Amino acid sequence: MQVVTQAQAVQQQALAWRAAGDDVGLVPTMGALHAGHESLVRRARRENRRVVASIFVNPLQFSPGEDLARYPRPIQRDLEVLEGLGVDAVFQPELDQIYPASFRTHVDPGPWGEVLEGRSRPGHFRGVLTVVLKLLELARPSRAYFGQKDAQQLLLVRQLVRDFCLPVRIVSCPTVREPDGLALSSRNAYLDPARRSSAPALYGALRQAAQAYRDGRKDPAALERLAVEALSGRPELELDYVALFDEATLERPAEAGPGNVLAGAVKLGGIRLIDNVILGAEVL
Ligand code: AMP
Repeated sequence: MQVVTQAQAVQQQALAWRAAGDDVGLVPTMGALHAGHESLVRRARRENRRVVASIFVNPLQFSPGEDLARYPRPIQRDLEVLEGLGVDAVFQPELDQIYPASFRTHVDPGPWGEVLEGRSRPGHFRGVLTVVLKLLELARPSRAYFGQKDAQQLLLVRQLVRDFCLPVRIVSCPTVREPDGLALSSRNAYLDPARRSSAPALYGALRQAAQAYRDGRKDPAALERLAVEALSGRPELELDYVALFDEATLERPAEAGPGNVLAGAVKLGGIRLIDNVILGAEVL
């Protein structure tokens, strides 16, 4: 496995692979890898001749006061995990390889970047889309792999690809969970035991609403309310939002239908948790 730190070098390697007819799968990450990331890498490994994983904690997508400085960076372990999964190249750039002093241009995500996650995290999706565009240009993948857990991010990346006619297929991968339902996240490491035991309640609330949908309830506002009410018995979870939206437009549908996303965000002792379920698709 190559570990590449230079932007130019990763681009040259990717261009050489593509010129030789090899397809390339890219898995962008911020490191601190868990089984969720691993599932993306495994899928990329199955579907491409070459696999590139990137590890870059992107400062642009952190708001002031967020956890940029303390974000976990277990780089040796991450490299071992990626090696074990048969990745061809890890792109692990320093800051100046992505944002040299001369860097000026950013991707404006448009109105979808301002709602839900974007409302609580101003500038977050501008940072995400800027780094994703750069990583796509550097690694030149045929396919890029993203987790359904970050549903709004996935939708915005798809929009970026459509708007700029980027020659890449975006592959969404199902959310990997702990046995008690908590979606895996590098940030779960911040949870102390009491908070850790409360954390699955977010998924539990979303699931209850998804079950109500299965039982025939189709009013989006009523389904959102159900999830909010399920959370109201857990005062330690501070609600940010619960929103039901169309998976392609981020709009609330007139009537809930299969494929719609019911997403939620809470704060738990200052730690932000997000999760979502896809209506009609969840194993309940
Ligand atoms: P991150 O390192 O948090 O930027 O995540 C890198 C990629 O892994 C993103 O596409 C995430 O959506 C995805 N991801 C994070 N957590 C999970 C999970 N529990 N299951 C599946 N994919 C995930």
